[in-house]
Amino acid sequence: MAELSLQHIDKIYDNNVQAVFDFNLDVKDGELIVLVGPSGCGKSTTLRMVAGLEDISKGHLYLDGKDITQTPAKDRDMAMVFQNYALYGHMTIYENMAFSLTLRKENPNVIHKKVLAAAEILGLTSQLNKKPNQLSGGQRQRVAMGRSIVRNPKVFLFDEPLSNLDAKLRGATRREILLLHKRLKATMMYVTHDQTEALTLADRIVCMSMGHVQQVGTPLELYDAPANIFVASFIGLPPMNLFDAKVNGDELVLEKDSSVHVALTDEEKKLLASYQGKTVVLGVRPENIEEGAGGIPVTVTNNENLGMNTLVYANIGGASGPRVCAKLKGWVGHVHGDQAQFVITRKHLFDKETTNAIR
Ligand code: ADP
Repeated sequence: MAELSLQHIDKIYDNNVQAVFDFNLDVKDGELIVLVGPSGCGKSTTLRMVAGLEDISKGHLYLDGKDITQTPAKDRDMAMVFQNYALYGHMTIYENMAFSLTLRKENPNVIHKKVLAAAEILGLTSQLNKKPNQLSGGQRQRVAMGRSIVRNPKVFLFDEPLSNLDAKLRGATRREILLLHKRLKATMMYVTHDQTEALTLADRIVCMSMGHVQQVGTPLELYDAPANIFVASFIGLPPMNLFDAKVNGDELVLEKDSSVHVALTDEEKKLLASYQGKTVVLGVRPENIEEGAGGIPVTVTNNENLGMNTLVYANIGGASGPRVCAKLKGWVGHVHGDQAQFVITRKHLFDKETTNAIR
């Protein structure tokens, strides 16, 4: 079993930079947690504190109920997989995978069994006699994972493990990590700046900005009910469209173009009862826009046909109106300057001052 608990954790570096503020999280046994956020938001620092590679400035870290805040990295029973695979070039794949066990002077028969079992899981059996430079980037990443698996750690920690791979390999390796997680049923913490990786891998996502946790939840929760504007615009691709809009009776009126009125549903009217006459932020995901009669008039600026979908970029109203991106189904043949009408099928509403979702 491996349950992690991070309680009120801060990180203040020696130069007085505070990288992490009051981080709280309970990781269940076998859960895959993904820490996601833009570069510099404190993801790696948090992971490194869990690994024991950075001191925890304040707060406590528990593994299965035991306080390991001060426990040295080597005694934490965790394995970290890095983006630069850090394989030994002069050793074979077998030797690389066996290395930590050899260091620990484990019985050679046991080592052999463990390496073969890990190689089997990772599809590396036929590569064991090769050297790292004879392998592809994806295979090398698998060897790095294999080195962790043979140690049978309580917790696996991944620091941007796919960022050195090209787009195609990233997708394939991501799916392998997911299968690995299902097979090992191990507790995992995974750091990435890539929202697609977070959505596709995580049991739960921790979305961070500037050292603060913004929201913790399942991928669907973060996508469907983002807690604030930051999460709303970070999760989802292309990002959510955001407009300042005044609440005016049964409608929202866009601040940048007061000729654009957006009708509110009864439920939305109730939510916005205390916002009459005030400005809120209207969020609309590109995939929650359809083309249809009676919609908001827009002027198309450019069109990106992706096969299954078309991204249509437009200005609301005339050419100087607010920008909007719509992800329309199928192959839509708009050209620059086309007039179209966009119907919003789902809205997200945020308080302009707190930036929190209005619920
Ligand atoms: P992320 O992994 O989200 O990209 P990091 O955890 O690496 O972010 O960094 C968070 C913040 O802490 C950044 O402002 C970064 O510059 C700072 N930082 C990271 N490592 C150190 C260090 N060793 N000393 C001082 N500041 C650091």
